[in-house]
Amino acid sequence: MTLDKFKSNARKYLRCQIIAFGILFLGMFLAIIPESILEERAGRAGFDGTCIVVTAVSFPIIAAIIFFGVSYYPKKRLRQLGLVCPNCNKQFGKHRTRLAVMRTGCCRFCGAKVIDSNDLAK
Ligand SMILES: [Zn+2]
Repeated sequence: MTLDKFKSNARKYLRCQIIAFGILFLGMFLAIIPESILEERAGRAGFDGTCIVVTAVSFPIIAAIIFFGVSYYPKKRLRQLGLVCPNCNKQFGKHRTRLAVMRTGCCRFCGAKVIDSNDLAK
């Protein structure tokens, strides 16, 4: 991979992180809905079958949305953008790791060449 391509993909991954935070906050916002239903219902009729169904259905869905935003989606984008080591498959998810790769051209974990050395001389 060339240095310019790596930098371009790192910028694309930054956008992905913003989207991931958006999904996380969406999940946290959606948690308010069943919470308000439960509070209103449990206050009026006690913790009955409806409350159990709302809890059993809504919280796994919200947890799945948050998991998608925080873990699955960013990891998938890293693989799609080629921000993984071709040798050890470690992901360059952290900003400091990507900076090290841009500076040295090598994987921070195993030392394998990631960026063509001709580009680093520029
Ligand atoms: Zn590596």
